[in-house]
Amino acid sequence: MSTAEWLARDAASVWHPFTQHSVWLSDEPTVVERAEGAWLYDTDGRRYLDGVSSLWVTTFGHGEPAINDAIREQLGRLDHATFLGSTHPVAIELAEELLSVAPRGDRRLSKVFYAGDGSSAVEAAIKMAYQHSVQSGRARPLFVRLTEAYHGDTLGAVSVGGIDLFHATYKPLLLKTLAAPSPAVYDRASVSAADAAAEAIRALDAIMAEHGDDVSAIIVEPMVQAAAGILTYDASYLKAARELADRHGALLICDEVATGVGRTGRMWASEHAGIVPDLLITAKGLTGGYLPLSAVLATDDVYASFLGAPAEARTFFHGHTYTANPLCAAAALANLRLMRERDLLGHVSALGERFGELLAPLAARPGVTNVRRLGVMAAVEVAALGERTGFRVCQAAKKRGVWLRPLGDAIVIMPPLALSMDEAEILVGALDEALSEVI
Ligand code: PLP
Repeated sequence: MSTAEWLARDAASVWHPFTQHSVWLSDEPTVVERAEGAWLYDTDGRRYLDGVSSLWVTTFGHGEPAINDAIREQLGRLDHATFLGSTHPVAIELAEELLSVAPRGDRRLSKVFYAGDGSSAVEAAIKMAYQHSVQSGRARPLFVRLTEAYHGDTLGAVSVGGIDLFHATYKPLLLKTLAAPSPAVYDRASVSAADAAAEAIRALDAIMAEHGDDVSAIIVEPMVQAAAGILTYDASYLKAARELADRHGALLICDEVATGVGRTGRMWASEHAGIVPDLLITAKGLTGGYLPLSAVLATDDVYASFLGAPAEARTFFHGHTYTANPLCAAAALANLRLMRERDLLGHVSALGERFGELLAPLAARPGVTNVRRLGVMAAVEVAALGERTGFRVCQAAKKRGVWLRPLGDAIVIMPPLALSMDEAEILVGALDEALSEVI
């Protein structure tokens, strides 16, 4: 079947996420037929380097034999069994593995609660934090969120989000939150990252001083506000958020959906600041990019507040039909084990450095307003020149065989973590040419 026929059938029957369908076909969407390593192949047989790792999820690449085999083997043993009143070995092993690589410090993450995707894990963490406050003796109905935050698209996650384009419509439906200014400096090149963080810390301090007793949790994307355009910020902010949460008896939730599982060069971005959150959320890269699975890691302290006689109703009444699906858990377990065996974190550090070298000359180009990076998570921001400049740059890169997606006018670079150095050069080379074409 031709690409045009596939697209006609798609347009007739499918509603895509975050997509304006009035321009869907004129934007020339790709019909991806297969994938291998870091490459996607479309129905016309063209190939594209997957520069966004299929929405920030791919670790070892598409079709990694060790992960494929783990899923197949699991399929031969157990496809699915409910996690209510039963358990299964692979989910237990995965929980142990996750806890063994959890950040360490002044508290211990000791329990794993599974969910299906990033948003549903955020939802679970929000309810957990609030219920924890109730069961610790004082109901705290407020959450502190950052401006520019993105934590997903379900209502709880939208409540703690701060991107107006996505979130403003739903305001009447949302939870009570307090917006703390973002510590990122993306639009104020004259301010240092440390100064911007210091200013944001003062604001957070003031919010907590006034409302701290009513705050269940401060929720942050550690080190990088991803969906807002890969906005990196100073580690001092995370340290202060940890300290302020503790001072006021609130929890700190680190949403590591985008930053976790090695993306920033550490297993968790929280580690850049040497802090341990009370709740850590992981999704995206957890299964290596194969299947949907997420988890909330909780401390002993949070978990303990949910214990009691059944009649006390301290139970966490939350969960989904496919919670801890064994196939997803098998993919995640294989992915985490492979990360250790192949020292993926070592590779990400080196690859990140290489991206730093390759992207540096782009920062000096006219029309490029900012280049930001942490590990293998980067953005090249371009000045708006006419409509949808970022999108047009990505279309120009696509013509050159590199698949990228913009966030506004920030071109996001989030390739598979195991990308080779040569592939990194191909990616940045195509982006460079695309920038020349458009700006
Ligand atoms: N939290 C963060 C930090 C994210 O970047 C995202 C998605 O990009 C989410 C949560 C939502 O995850 P999902 O799309 O899997 O629901």
